Amino acid sequence: MRSKLVIANWKMNADKASVSRLLAAYCEVIKTSAQVVVCPPALYMHQAEESLVDSRVVLGAQDVSQYGNGAYTGEISLAMLKEFGCRYVIVGHSERRSLYGEQDETAAEKFAATLQAGLIPVLCVGETKQERETGETEAVVTRQINAVIKLAGIDGFENAVVAYEPVWAIGTGDTATPEQAQQVHKLVRDKLAAIDADVAQRVPVLYGGSVNAGNAKELFAMPDIDGGLVGGASLDADAFAAICAAAN
Ligand code: PEP
Repeated sequence: MRSKLVIANWKMNADKASVSRLLAAYCEVIKTSAQVVVCPPALYMHQAEESLVDSRVVLGAQDVSQYGNGAYTGEISLAMLKEFGCRYVIVGHSERRSLYGEQDETAAEKFAATLQAGLIPVLCVGETKQERETGETEAVVTRQINAVIKLAGIDGFENAVVAYEPVWAIGTGDTATPEQAQQVHKLVRDKLAAIDADVAQRVPVLYGGSVNAGNAKELFAMPDIDGGLVGGASLDADAFAAICAAAN
């Protein structure tokens, strides 16, 4: 039996006042048996860590460098994230792939580096609208996962999370139906199971893409959907609390 997990991805939305306000509201209104993770912009990690003392909500990062340290202007290392209590790291988010040209291999390097540092990578996979329309969903998701297996091995998924995030559903209000999502979640699990059935059974596979208070329960009820990665709706504490409650 896999436990449920809900991750808030605030993206580049925050200021000092809203971080305090939103996290205080999270602590007050979130009532769930699911594990809850919040990924603020990295600059606010320290403030978020202080706001979450004595809370069950844990910290994650939206991205990380695959390198340890050195001349990588603008980058943030795993060691830096760890100093501020970060436990999860999103890798290969579609916005990193589409806006910053991040390739499968880079996402795989970030995944492997995150594991090596003792943190939990959250690998995002998913197809664009065009890829879905041309019947390439399975090929795209398989390619994205295989790049990680090639570098980190199937054992890498022992302590990792996969998030299926159809690109056409992210920030668009256009959610995958529970059946569409379940189909790809099962595909992800089957791909892993073909190599190691135990690992495949244990790895949490989250759905992301316009999850909201109204659709979360139906999505999370599907057998291979273990929770959600939530962007826009996580900026509203009540909406996010309702999503977390749907993961009970
Ligand atoms: C995301 O950014 O990972 C995401 C799923 O965003 P949204 O919930 O806004 O679609």
